[in-house]
Amino acid sequence: MSTYIFQEWPQADQLAQQLSKDVQAEVVIISGQWPCHQSAKTYEGKKLLQFWQQAKIYWQQQPVFAYPLNQGKFTLIHPEVYSQWCQYNAGFDQFADTSVAALKPWLQMPAPLKVSSVVIIGAGIAGAATAFALAQRNISVTVIEQNKIASAASGNHQGLLYAKISPYPTLQTELLMTGYGYSLGLLNQTSSPKLNCGVLHLNFNLAEELRNVKLAEQCPDSQLYQLVTRSQASTLAGIKLSSGGLWWPHGVTINPRSLIKVLLSHPLIKLLTHTRVKQLAHDGNTWQIVCQKEQKQHILTASHFVICAGAQSNLLNPLFDWPFKIIGGQTTTAVPGDYASNLRCALSGSSYISPVWRNKMCFGATFHPNCSQVELSQADEQANWQELSNWLPELAEDLKPNPTTQGHAALRCDTYDHLPVVGPIGESKLMLHTYEKLKFDKNYPIKQPCPWLPGAFVNTAHGSRGLATAPICAEAIAAAILGVPSPLSSRLQQGMHPNRLLIRTLTHYRNG
Ligand SMILES: Cc1cc2nc3c(=O)[nH]c(=O)nc-3n(C[C@H](O)[C@H](O)[C@H](O)COP(=O)(O)OP(=O)(O)OC[C@H]3O[C@@H](n4cnc5c(N)ncnc54)[C@H](O)[C@@H]3O)c2cc1C
Repeated sequence: MSTYIFQEWPQADQLAQQLSKDVQAEVVIISGQWPCHQSAKTYEGKKLLQFWQQAKIYWQQQPVFAYPLNQGKFTLIHPEVYSQWCQYNAGFDQFADTSVAALKPWLQMPAPLKVSSVVIIGAGIAGAATAFALAQRNISVTVIEQNKIASAASGNHQGLLYAKISPYPTLQTELLMTGYGYSLGLLNQTSSPKLNCGVLHLNFNLAEELRNVKLAEQCPDSQLYQLVTRSQASTLAGIKLSSGGLWWPHGVTINPRSLIKVLLSHPLIKLLTHTRVKQLAHDGNTWQIVCQKEQKQHILTASHFVICAGAQSNLLNPLFDWPFKIIGGQTTTAVPGDYASNLRCALSGSSYISPVWRNKMCFGATFHPNCSQVELSQADEQANWQELSNWLPELAEDLKPNPTTQGHAALRCDTYDHLPVVGPIGESKLMLHTYEKLKFDKNYPIKQPCPWLPGAFVNTAHGSRGLATAPICAEAIAAAILGVPSPLSSRLQQGMHPNRLLIRTLTHYRNG
């Protein structure tokens, strides 16, 4: 796999010719804008221009923007963040600008280690996407799943994929904007099933209306989203709505399990289901991964592992007791009548509903902070029906009542700052000892290098937006393991760095 770096936009015909011999190539363009006038003479060049046109829809000036290209990746980086971006990626030291202020040592990246074998723990969207990102780079991966695939948070009948962003330049917004385009590109690249229905984010209260209006004002010609009136919204939806909203024409709904299945079918991925990882220990050379299948235990060895265990990530010893936030939730499915079947797009408001897929509509979801309940509950089913009746009474009326509870209950994994946990892991006890002084002064200037766990990574805590965030984070993990440039800006990589959670137990220890 090669990386081609351009200081300005390359000529499409020439680049297309280079790429035809190297389908796994990564193309990095350092530019603050998209080219205005590009033309191509060859068929391949024209196809590349088409690809750029498609990718441009999802580019909203993110400092680093990534989109899948053939079997590789296309990354557009703003010149202002380029040196910082290089500095964060160990393998690209030759491009680094040493004047960039040193990072906090626990938020840096360890030097990459030789990769011999990688184990991924968990076969939800994060695990499947991480395995796929590595397999695409010719690395053999074993995915270990304690149940069957997509059995936990990724097990909903339908999930919405769009970017629920704020009008402010937050890290969340940057991640969602980059991840949204990336996930849509991945669905296309792998020909995974999806409903190209668009998503309508309704003005369901004043705060949402103001947010939608502000977003539309910021970008009046956006191809990504448009403000629509109540009557336009009703036409788009095919049913009567009581408010307008923000229309995301490229938004889709997917069955997450179908995508996970496609990703895990890569020939370099080996899947072990009904196998639980009980413990991970390093023998000074490799990781010994203790697995249990039914009554039998066996040990796998690996140079690297990635924890993608969702709400159970901090039950595994490298992350034992790290402070995640767990939020229970349930979606409900029901069979529609004629009127409900008319729903043409996904609706998102105080809850969400997707158009019919495999004869059922999926709606919800409930939110229960600090909950560990994963059984389907009658009370949650009622809450989902009640919410739908308040919101879309005619549609709710036309769904057939369920004789027993139907849908999916699971735990979301989240964090105090609602950013995912993505990157390398330090050794907990040693980190707490090394950085102990932060307990008394959170700005204490400690320069000691982080005591890293060799080859240990995590990709989890995707909260309620994993379909938009997990695949791009999987790319970032693959880049970190291999020591090549990340598709994420350095501020985003630091913002999502796993070690922030443990260090926060020091800086906020008085708050409990
Ligand atoms: C009700 C509900 C509705 C949602 N709706 C949407 C939506 O519309 N759009 C959206 O983008 N997101 C939505 N989300 C959020 C999204 O589903 C999650 O962010 C995403 O599924 C998280 O994926 P994951 O792979 O991190 O975790 P999970 O899907 O939970 O996967 C973790 C896997 O790890 C396995 N595992 C754990 N421990 C071990 C171990 N020790 N050994 C082996 N395997 C282990 C588990 O069995 C599980 O399969 C929703 C979530 C819920 C709960």
